[in-house]
Amino acid sequence: MKFVDEYRNKENVQRVARAIKEVTKHPWTIMEICGGQTHSIIRFGLDELLPKKISLVHGPGCPVCVTPLESINRAIAIASKEGVIFCSFGDMLRVPGSKKDLLSVKAEGGDVRIVYSPMDALEIAKRNPNKKVVFFAVGFETTAPGNAMAAYKAKAQNINNFSLLVSHVLVPPAIEAILSSKQNKVQGFLAAGHVCTVMGYQEYEPLAKKYKTPIVVTGFEPLDILQGVHMCVKQLEESRYEVENQYSRSVHRQGNSKAIEIIKQVFEVSSRKWRGIGVIPQSGLVLRKSFSQFDAEKIFDLEDIKTSEPKECISALVLRGIKKPHECSAFGKSCRPDHPLGAPMVSSEGACAAYYRYKRR
Ligand code: SF4
Repeated sequence: MKFVDEYRNKENVQRVARAIKEVTKHPWTIMEICGGQTHSIIRFGLDELLPKKISLVHGPGCPVCVTPLESINRAIAIASKEGVIFCSFGDMLRVPGSKKDLLSVKAEGGDVRIVYSPMDALEIAKRNPNKKVVFFAVGFETTAPGNAMAAYKAKAQNINNFSLLVSHVLVPPAIEAILSSKQNKVQGFLAAGHVCTVMGYQEYEPLAKKYKTPIVVTGFEPLDILQGVHMCVKQLEESRYEVENQYSRSVHRQGNSKAIEIIKQVFEVSSRKWRGIGVIPQSGLVLRKSFSQFDAEKIFDLEDIKTSEPKECISALVLRGIKKPHECSAFGKSCRPDHPLGAPMVSSEGACAAYYRYKRR
């Protein structure tokens, strides 16, 4: 199969749903890590095709919503400065900081620009040598190679008015944080196909073994997701705990060696705060010392920014699969996409926003 339509074909989807029903003997809780997969599940009603014994819970894999409030506030502080051109992917502009968002900074006259790649931001820096050009480097392992390449090229081409505001997060430490929690209910994982396209899935193998939890690398279309669930349930029913690859049309065990190499050359692993969850050890990327001249946090004099999440928001439980969005008392009332209180409602890929959009109440 090569085309999207084939992965949305009704007969194929129903065939796999029947296979899941046949294999399911016990109740199982499975988490899809990625917000894109959550969105597909709710949008296409895939969870409703599953036997009642299978519960899908939604993980912390939405890059927009896990970017910590402190990073948003830092972005806003930098973008508000004179002489700065602040570049970002468009979906970060509406994410609320403590007082306002980047779009408000733009409305107030700040030079905030939407770009489609960090290379576009680098080009803007070349064309505007008298301005400081900052790119908001957020996301998981998927966006890290492009951001690393931008810093690498800036160094090679001696472009000194370019920098990155880095807020990268990594998937395997988040899986470990979920599995090692005493409250954990997750028995199997669907790992995100695009992250594994970059990194491969070797890092997941010790986790599957240590926590006796199957991990199936899975794509994003309805058929992908149901095949991933089928492979995961089969393992659980057979008491196997391996890493399997449903998304073999894109993912190889070793990943993309060139992408991994450039990430390692420019970034190093560090602890990172996740919005709604808190600090997860060794779960983020920061620029290496040899690239510190491109670190926006070092270039700009920013006040120590401290933030707190609203008390009624249970996003720490939603993002770890312990509660579902509609179990939050604020869901659809004081918390809506136009007025999000917490991380999973902030972006359309967040679990609370997906439930709200597709009316799961
Ligand atoms: S509905 Fe809103 S307040 Fe409740 S967990 Fe989701 S983001 Fe937080």
